[in-house]
Amino acid sequence: MFPALLPTYNRTDVAFVRGEGSYLFAEDGKRYLDFGAGIAVNAFGHANPKLVGALTQQAAKLWHTSNLYRVPGQESLSRKLVDNSFADTVFFTNSGTEATELAIKMARRYHFVNGAPDRFHIVSFEGAFHGRTIAAINAGGNEKYLEGFGPRMAGFDQVPLGDLDALKKVIGPHTAALLIEPIQGEGGVRTMTPEYLRALRNLCDDTGMLLIFDEIQTGVGRTGKFFAYDWLGFTPDIMTVAKGIGGGFPLGAVLATAEAAKGMTVGTHGTTYGGNPLAMAVGNAAIDLVLAPGFLDHVNKVANYLHQQLGALVAGHPAMFESVRGQGLMIGLKMKTPSADFIAAARANGLVVLPAGDNVVRILPPLTLSEEEAREGMDLLSKTASQMEAQKAAAQ
Ligand SMILES: *Cc1c(COP(=O)(O)O)cnc(C)c1O
Repeated sequence: MFPALLPTYNRTDVAFVRGEGSYLFAEDGKRYLDFGAGIAVNAFGHANPKLVGALTQQAAKLWHTSNLYRVPGQESLSRKLVDNSFADTVFFTNSGTEATELAIKMARRYHFVNGAPDRFHIVSFEGAFHGRTIAAINAGGNEKYLEGFGPRMAGFDQVPLGDLDALKKVIGPHTAALLIEPIQGEGGVRTMTPEYLRALRNLCDDTGMLLIFDEIQTGVGRTGKFFAYDWLGFTPDIMTVAKGIGGGFPLGAVLATAEAAKGMTVGTHGTTYGGNPLAMAVGNAAIDLVLAPGFLDHVNKVANYLHQQLGALVAGHPAMFESVRGQGLMIGLKMKTPSADFIAAARANGLVVLPAGDNVVRILPPLTLSEEEAREGMDLLSKTASQMEAQKAAAQ
C-alpha cells in the first residue's frame, strides 16, 4: 500500500515530542542534546519563553488578515531589518524557497525596468542549495533534485565554486545576477575565501549584475554576526533569509537595496500567508533576541570553544575525521569514514547532529547553547568517535 505520508523522506525512526532549550525529548522519554536545531531553525532553543509568549499572545488576538491590509508586525520587523542591514526594503515569505523565487524575480525585473528584458540569466555555483521549487532546483543545479521534473529551465547557469575564470566565461550581456550562499550549507558547510566573494562583488559592479546572497542558513546570528556578509566589508544587492529568523515558526524574507528592488511595483508579487501576524510576532521577538547586547558575543565565544575542541577531536582521530569547516555555529566535520554511521552512533549516545553533502557531519546547535552544553556535546562526539574506532578495531 502506498504510504499515507508521501514518502519523499528517508526518515530516522525517532519522534521528538517535546523540547526545552538545547534538549529534545523523544516519545520514549529519551533525552537528546540538539546539535541540529531543526536544520539551523531553532536558533533560540526549544520552547523559548520569549518566542512562546510572543506567539501565544498574538494567537489570542488575531491570526491572519491577508496582505490586503496593513500588518503592523511587518512594519516593525521590516524597520528592524532595514536599520540593522544593508537593505532598504523587505518582503516576507513563509519559507526559504519562496525567498529564492522572489530574489530571482526581483533581479530579472530590475533589468527589465532598466530596459534589458533579455538580461535574465542567474549564475549559481556547484554544490549550491536554494530550495525545492522549480526555479530553486534549477538554480541549485543538483541533478538528483532536477531529475524527472521536466526540461531544465532557461536562464540558469552554473559554474564550479571558487573558479573565477569559469565564471567569467559564462557571464555575458544576458546575465542578471550571481546567486551564492556565503557558506554552502547543504552542500557540506563549504566556505570560500573573502577574496573570492569580494571578486564576485567587483564583477557585479563592473558589469551591472546584481549580487544575491542566500543567507537562509548563514543569517540571523548563525556565523557569529547578524548576517554572514557582515564579516566581509561589503554588501549584496539582494539577500534571502529564512530558517533562524522565525526560530521555528515558518518565516522567510527577501532584503534588498532600493535600487535592486525598484522593479517590484504594485502587483508584481504577492503571498497570502507571508508576513502574517503570527509569523511577525515571532519574527519580531526573534530579531530582538539576536540584536540584544551580548547575544552575538555569546555565539562567538561558544563557537570558538567548539572550533578549538573539534580541531583537537579531528587531530585525535585522524583515520575518522579529515577537517573542521565553517564559521560561528555553522560547523562541518569532514569525515573519512561514512558520515551516516557517525550520525547514527551519535544519536544512540543522545546527541543529534545532521548530514550534509561531501560526507560532512553538520553541527548547527541553537545559538543559545551554553558553554556547559557545548562541553557536553564535545564529550558525546568524542565518546562516539572512540566507540566507533574501538568497534572497528574489534572487527579486524
Ligand atoms: C534551507 C535552505 C533553503 C530552502 O529553504 P526552505 O525553507 O526549505 O524552502 C534555501 N537555501 C539555503 C541556503 C538553505 O539552507
